[in-house]
Amino acid sequence: MSVIDIEKLTKYYGNFLALNEVDLNVKQGEVFGFIGPNGAGKTTTLRILLGMLRKNSGTIRLLGGDPWHDAVRLHRRLAYVPGEVNLWPGLTGGEVIDMLGKLRGGFEGERRDKLLERFKLDPRKKCGAYSTGNRQKVALIAALVSDVELYIFDEPTSGLDPLMEMVFRESVNELKKEGKTVLLSSHILSEVEALCDRICIIREGQIIENGTFDELRHLTRTNITVDTHKPITGLEDMKEVHNLIQKCNHTQFSVDAEKIDSMLKYLTQFGVQSLISVPPTLEELFISYYGLEYTENKETIRG
Ligand code: ATP
Repeated sequence: MSVIDIEKLTKYYGNFLALNEVDLNVKQGEVFGFIGPNGAGKTTTLRILLGMLRKNSGTIRLLGGDPWHDAVRLHRRLAYVPGEVNLWPGLTGGEVIDMLGKLRGGFEGERRDKLLERFKLDPRKKCGAYSTGNRQKVALIAALVSDVELYIFDEPTSGLDPLMEMVFRESVNELKKEGKTVLLSSHILSEVEALCDRICIIREGQIIENGTFDELRHLTRTNITVDTHKPITGLEDMKEVHNLIQKCNHTQFSVDAEKIDSMLKYLTQFGVQSLISVPPTLEELFISYYGLEYTENKETIRG
């Protein structure tokens, strides 16, 4: 069953086309990664999905309803953490967690206490006095404490330190075990790679790829390091071989993923002594999409 079903979603800001016929489908029980560089259209998609922004055209079903017309009813069944967390400065973190939790149908005190402990948050401080990271923790705990069907996180760990990033991952894995659906928008590749069952990549308002991480590996290359009895010949002429380095009987290269089988057969004729094959990371996948642009702006895209 689809929890989110978006078809041909298009959005203009004035004359600027921010989303161009975006399709996105998230099934029940999935942790789905929505990734792309800054300005790609992730937040715009999420805001339309949540009924906070009007679309120009396309269809959207959220938990079986229409987010623009059924917003109040649907929001009781989901928890959303925006990228930029704005809280009531005069309320304490604990009060905000209680209030948001109650709006979503209540929660177990034990679950809240466990999360406060895990995220190391003091709930007695006023939100106005929290640091950015602590405000983010308040919003995350308020979402995680709720027993809802769908959790939507927009850049959830941008203000958290690495330890808290791990705590967030642990919490999402628990949601997954409970069979909940999670939509995670991020430009931190390792986070998406560690958590998500399926991903979709958006760039300049268009979905450019969609599938499981394994399905997307065909788009990239596998790195091979091999030691052989005889020096390997002929690799330099193969168009599926890249970044070739050879020193006598030691050879390193990358090979287009769909040619691995024939490559392994080819290598055996030289007497393989040892072979290490490393699958491509999501980061390499990204490089194949963003190419130079990604490499040059790596810091921007990694956040
Ligand atoms: P980020 O990772 O930086 O948050 P994003 O993928 O969430 O990026 P969006 O915030 O959805 O991207 O923005 C998509 C495009 O729409 C960007 O080019 C942005 O400048 C533009 N945009 C967003 N909001 C508005 C607005 N209110 N008016 C005009 N243009 C906008």
